[in-house]
Amino acid sequence: MLDSVRVRLTLWHTSVLALMLIAFSVGVYLLHARQLAARLDEGLQASLEGAAKSLRLEHAEGETSLQSAQSVVAELYLPHQALMIFDANGKLLAEKPLPGNVQVSLPPLLLPTTDAVRFDNVSIQAAKPAGRATKLRMATQQACLSSNSQCQIIVVAEPRDALIAELAMLRNILLLAIPAVLLLAGLGGWFLARKTLAPVVNMAESARRISAAHLDERLPLANPRDELGRLTATFNEMLARLESSFTQQRQFMADASHELRTPLSVLRTAAAVTLEKPRREESEYREALTIIDEQVKRLSRIVEEMFTLARADAGGRELRPTDFYLDELITETARAAEVLASHKQISVEWTPAPETIYRGDETLLRQMLLNLLDNAIKHTPAGGHVRLQLERAGPNYFITVTDTGTGIPIEAQSHVFERFYRADKARSRETNGNVGGNGGGAGLGLSIARWIAEAHGGSLTLLHSDPQGSAFRISLPA
Ligand code: ADP
Repeated sequence: MLDSVRVRLTLWHTSVLALMLIAFSVGVYLLHARQLAARLDEGLQASLEGAAKSLRLEHAEGETSLQSAQSVVAELYLPHQALMIFDANGKLLAEKPLPGNVQVSLPPLLLPTTDAVRFDNVSIQAAKPAGRATKLRMATQQACLSSNSQCQIIVVAEPRDALIAELAMLRNILLLAIPAVLLLAGLGGWFLARKTLAPVVNMAESARRISAAHLDERLPLANPRDELGRLTATFNEMLARLESSFTQQRQFMADASHELRTPLSVLRTAAAVTLEKPRREESEYREALTIIDEQVKRLSRIVEEMFTLARADAGGRELRPTDFYLDELITETARAAEVLASHKQISVEWTPAPETIYRGDETLLRQMLLNLLDNAIKHTPAGGHVRLQLERAGPNYFITVTDTGTGIPIEAQSHVFERFYRADKARSRETNGNVGGNGGGAGLGLSIARWIAEAHGGSLTLLHSDPQGSAFRISLPA
């Protein structure tokens, strides 16, 4: 049950309220009890003062102690209190019982020695009617006459029944009211929590309906400014990212199978045609095997490139950095390109760069350069030039691959880095050789080259391209 947020919220809210109510009630009860006690004491003190004053007046008129005590007890109007007057030795001179003629016999007096009023709580067993215990508040004071320094002791007592009953009533009210208020607050909290959490429950329901097949669905957004709205928006953004990456994956699969179909069907046709006749000339077998060899190389290259990209996406191809000379890598790749370019009467130029130690994945960086050189040679007609240049500017190394080729059409320039994109599909599928010597491209070369540059914290951009030639620039942090 505690696994429900609604139950936990209700319990929290009710417990906090309960604590507050208990603290408040205890405070009110104690304050009220103090006030009632103070009022009782004030009444007792007023009666004491009245009796003392009357005693002095009676003495002034020449009466004896006994006479004056008796007339004060008879005359003083104290409807709720008992009054007793003792002499200095504690002998009772006169007494007025409690209303209803309840006779109180006070416990042995502690004779006061000062004029200060003393208050005591006493519990007495009333003599008449017998057996009834009465709780009394008692005030005692010594009253002395200044003329002959003769002292008497006045005692006033009042039952605390009314005070006790009032406090008991307050206690009962609080004991009934607190659970009732808590019950109502708990019910209210429960419904409030239900209402507040309803959008979350709806959200969970909607989210459950969204499967990989319906990633275009979004959660309904009630109020984009409140907390739940922001949560929904965040969830929807995550769905959008998932959808885009799913679409990319599907596209990748579709493009990949499309790319693999062409060489496979060429292979099948070459084999089928050759096998049609039981016997053929050696030259015919050679021709068929050459076609098969080219297509197998092409297939291997596509599969290799797809594997590289798939591993890059999955984060499985980590860089293996080593220290090497970047200038040597440039010379080495330019020389490799030169061999191939010479078949097409294309010259490859590079300016020897100063010794440049670089830390990076040499194998991947070599592949990146070969991809760019391969493209440059592929798209440059006979008699053209390809240039490879390394320079340092500020915190970066810049490697530029320039050619005097046919250029990339303007509308294709923004797409050349996309996977499986080829500006001129028909020509790229030709099985012309390349630096790797393994068949035409599948439109993955630039994607891979860009990924390699970015994995090294750099970038690969198309500087410019027109019918006079193209230039690609790699930037690598030094
Ligand atoms: P591919 O492996 O087919 O060469 P890339 O990703 O390397 O694929 O290149 C994508 C497309 O960009 C190529 O099909 C080509 O049309 C175009 N391209 C790339 N480099 C050049 C270049 N130097 N000159 C002209 N076109 C180029």
